[in-house]
Amino acid sequence: MKASPHRHTPAIIHLQAIRNNIEHYKHFIDKQPEIWAVVKANAYGHGAVKVAQAVASHVQGFCISNLDEALELRNNDITLPLLVLSGIVPDNADLARDMDITLTVPSVEWLELVIKESTTDLSGLKVHVAVDTGMGRIGVKTTEEINEIYRLAEQHCIEIEGIFTHFATADEKDTDKLQEQSEKFEDILSKLPYRPRYIHSTNSAAGLWHSNQVQDIERLGIAMYGLNPSGTLIDLPYQLEPALTLQSEITHMKKIEAGETVGYGATFEASEETYIGTVSIGYADGWTREMQGFHVLIDGQEAEIVGRISMDQMTIKCDKYYPIGTLVTLIGRDGDREITVDDIAKWRKTINYEIICLLSDRIYRIYK
Ligand SMILES: *Cc1c(COP(=O)(O)O)cnc(C)c1O
Repeated sequence: MKASPHRHTPAIIHLQAIRNNIEHYKHFIDKQPEIWAVVKANAYGHGAVKVAQAVASHVQGFCISNLDEALELRNNDITLPLLVLSGIVPDNADLARDMDITLTVPSVEWLELVIKESTTDLSGLKVHVAVDTGMGRIGVKTTEEINEIYRLAEQHCIEIEGIFTHFATADEKDTDKLQEQSEKFEDILSKLPYRPRYIHSTNSAAGLWHSNQVQDIERLGIAMYGLNPSGTLIDLPYQLEPALTLQSEITHMKKIEAGETVGYGATFEASEETYIGTVSIGYADGWTREMQGFHVLIDGQEAEIVGRISMDQMTIKCDKYYPIGTLVTLIGRDGDREITVDDIAKWRKTINYEIICLLSDRIYRIYK
């Protein structure tokens, strides 16, 4: 979708907040892991290149989810290590090696395919081996598989630079499953043919609430963007600074009479004289139809979203007439009131991650 800077519906990204969140984490943790910033999915909607450039001197590497995301960073002069967290299509390994992009080995079968399909010799390719200790997504489970990966890597001069696992429940109060996963990982690690440079297992949630699990790398994602990995379930050990605010403005204002309706399906009918403002955001922006009934901030007050959300516009019920161009806050603070990403996630019965990742490219990002 086309980014639309001529429409006044920007997401404002506070790069200093992202840097502060990283520095705050380094002070919080009583050891010195490398910090690898997770900038997959366009840095959770914040803009991968801009975020990577802004934090490059504060971290030691970046994690992304696929080869194209890695290439975008390399092609924009990001020189730090790049780790692709999921398995890529096996016939692209040569390209990854040529661009100095580190791959994840999700299985023995994958590594065999990579070796078979590679048109050049793969020497110099760097990999981290994924271990499935209970996440159930990717990774090997046994020492036999690890030994086979080590053997193949050695044979083909592929460098095993790291080994990692991923916790399924680090953002929950119950810690049994995490303990079980941690013990499985330790058992696998104790039997490695040799220890690679990097052993790692922690995302934001594990890094915050199970910091004893942090080893050589902390894979810092959501907490870097200033959001609580558990939503509102577990309190943060220190305050984070949300990095994204979302604004728009009134594009049309009118007074309707009792009995008049608003929007598709005529789901809102005025029971008295009502001021209705129109705002340029809709479900094509990731502002989904579920937002009907929620509210925005205008002039420091809540204004209810009434009528269905359209593709490009929505309508709000106002306490008085506001002129075209009046600021509307969708995420952020206006006066004493604030709408957080977690407020929206709760309303939509989902997680804060999903709200920010769904904000589409049409919303123009402004960097502060
Ligand atoms: C996305 C991801 C992370 C980062 O998770 P956050 O909860 O955002 O910190 C870390 N590790 C892996 C394997 C991931 O897929």
